[in-house]
Parts: sequence; structure tokens; C-alpha cells
Amino acid sequence: MTSFFNNVLRQIDEISILLENEYIDKKTFKKIISEIKKPQRIIKKTLTITSDNGKKISFQSFRAQHNNALGPFKGGIRFHLNVNEDEVKALSTLMSFKCSLAGIPYGGSKGGIKVDVSRFSQKELKKLSKAYAKSFSKYIGERIDVPAPDINTNAQIMAWMLEEYEKSVGYKSPATFTGKPIELGGSLGRNEATGRCGVFVLKEFAKKERLVPSKTKIAVQGFGNVGFWFSKFAKDSGFKVIAISDSSGAILNEKGLDPEKLNDYKREFGSFKEIAENKGFKFISNEDILELPVDILVPAALEAVINKDNAEKIKAKVILEMANGPTTFEAEETLLKNKKEILPDILCNSGGVTASYFEWAQNLQGISWSEKKVNEELKKYIVNAFNSVYSLAKKKKFTFRVAANYLSLKRIVDAIILRGFES
Ligand code: GLU
Repeated sequence: MTSFFNNVLRQIDEISILLENEYIDKKTFKKIISEIKKPQRIIKKTLTITSDNGKKISFQSFRAQHNNALGPFKGGIRFHLNVNEDEVKALSTLMSFKCSLAGIPYGGSKGGIKVDVSRFSQKELKKLSKAYAKSFSKYIGERIDVPAPDINTNAQIMAWMLEEYEKSVGYKSPATFTGKPIELGGSLGRNEATGRCGVFVLKEFAKKERLVPSKTKIAVQGFGNVGFWFSKFAKDSGFKVIAISDSSGAILNEKGLDPEKLNDYKREFGSFKEIAENKGFKFISNEDILELPVDILVPAALEAVINKDNAEKIKAKVILEMANGPTTFEAEETLLKNKKEILPDILCNSGGVTASYFEWAQNLQGISWSEKKVNEELKKYIVNAFNSVYSLAKKKKFTFRVAANYLSLKRIVDAIILRGFES
């Protein structure tokens, strides 16, 4: 299988052929594109902590800083066994595109620790979070690179990292991390923002395409922060969420599911498999949920879940990507051939980093916004991004991904030129 980063490079190649027409100086344009194809910096560290049983354990960790022409680097830190150099390179590039498309003043970055969180206690994860913040303290900062939560990381982890970072640098700097607890300068509305904005995209798309929410069946793969809030807001907006999965498998009910109830059950029983067994829900596999005959499929977990092995079997008419990079380049070719539409990740899940931007801006000014203001501003940003992507796609007969990538790559190239790039 093509690597994740290579998939992203193929997207850049595809867009640069189209974008080249906008620039007279082709040589400079080509040089800039080859610069954008390489993250500016990749930092790798081995982190060692003492486990609860007194043994020393080491972990590989990373931070890829892709391009900071538009502003400081910005992007999450994930804790997952799949974390590797290729993955952070790909994800940092997608972050640059996402921030550019959202119209927020950042470049992209991404970090991670290769760890199976289920095997470690809270105390061990706290040590690991602090070890990461200490090791990377030289490379991050409110005007340098601003981390945030990602897969398996949350507000508590940001709080531990902030504490360790501030200790290392010797001053307070809440704007260095976003997605913090409210008590430490986190923003109201940040936690729900990714899911909320995904549903803004869903609603705008439904309006344009005249979809009736109560007749629109949705399957959501993933029940972390993003999957949960997306499902909840989709249901609250009248859509029919008929299947949701966690890593153990999926629960299916043709009449529609109640995500909040599932969340309570998940707390009680631990996994969807256990919920299905105890509460009598229909249970299907994580592969099967992707192949359900729904109107809209929402991958909201990991990358590359829609790939050349299952692309031909996808029956949903629309894929709304809430995960980063859930569809591989090859799979996309098959989906497009089968007349599927894809609402791309850099548009659909940009609400998280947009709310992070609001948090950062509040911290730098020492003020705090009401939840109403955060949500109103989020809606403005996401609807604006959606409309630009939708109208460019219709005008130029681009797919939504091509339109989104075109707009974001153009802003990055322009920023590099304005800074005086010389070829
Ligand atoms: N991890 C989230 C993402 O992939 C949020 C990043 C941020 O807020 O910086 O978009």
C-alpha cells in the first residue's frame, strides 16, 4: 500500500498541475511546490519513563512541522501504536492545508507518541505527557508551534504538558497549548467544536443537495470525541444516525440511534461489543459498518480505513470525512468512478483547529469568550469555507477535495511568494 505521506504528495501533485496556470513564473511555482512537499522539520525523540512497577520503558515520539508561511505551526499530538514518522509527516501537511482553507493564521504540524494507551495507568500517561513536553519544549511555543489534542489525547493531557512546558521555559504561556481545561485557559466550545462543525458542513451540504434530514441515513465509524459529538449533533439536527462503531465493532439500528445513550452505556459496559451483548443491539464488524447502504458514511477514527480493498464495496452516496486521511488516493479513484461524493477532511474536521485558534487568540489577549460567541464564530468560518469549496467545485467541475486542496495550496503558495521567495 502507498504510504500515507505518499498519498498526500499525490494530492499535491494533482493540484499543482491545475494551480500552475495561476502563476506566470512557473520556475518559482515549481520550486515552491517542491518545498511544500517536504516538512520543514521533523523532530524525533526517545522518551523514557519509570512504569508503575519500577521498570524503565521507552517510547518513540515525533513532531513534524510542515510549513509556517501562514503563521506558527499548529497541530495535535496523538498517542497511538500506529504513530510513526510517515504518519506525522502526512498529518502535518494536512494540517497546513486545513489551516489555510479555514483562513486561520497557522502552518501545519503534528506530533505523536507510539504507545498503546490501554496498557498504561493514568500515572504513567501523565509521566509520558510530561516527558514529551519537556523533550519538545525547545521546538514549541505560542509563536512557534502550538500543540492540541488528537487521537487518545485530551484536555487533561494538555494541562500536564502545559505545566511541564512552563516549568522548562520559566514563564506562563497558556497559548502554547490549545484544547486545555477551561480552568487553565481552555475555550468554551472547543471540546465539541470538531463534531459541531462537521454537522454544519452536513447541514449546508444537505441544503444545497436538497436532502431531507429525517430521510438521510448516516453511519459513523468511530466514537471518540469527534465521532460522539458529530453523531449527537447530527441526531439533534434531525438526521438518522443508524450505525456507530467503536474499536470493538458497530451497533446498528435502522430506526436511528441515540448517541448520548450509547455514551452512557459505553461508560457502563466499556465497549460497543459489551453494550450490544447486554442491551440486545444488532452488532456488526468495523469493516461492515463502512459497507452499509447508507446515504452518508462518516469515517471518524483513523486514516486509510477506506482503501483499495474495500473501496469497490462502499455503498454510501457521500463520504463525509471527519478523520484525517480516511480515504486513500487509490480508493478515491474507485469511489469517484462509482459516482460517490467525498466531503474532504480538511474541510469537515477543521472546526477543531478553528476553535483552537479562538482559544489561542483569547489566551494571547487574556480574555475569554462566551460559548455563544465561540459557536457563532465557528459557524461563520466553517460556512465560509464550505461555500468557497462548494462554489469552486461547481464552477470548475472539481471534486470537493480538489477544490479544497486548490484553495488551500494557493494560499500557502501566495504566502511564500509574498515573503520574498527566491528561486
Ligand atoms: N487534532 C486536531 C486536528 O487534527 C486539532 C488540531 C488543533 O487544534 O491544533 O485537526
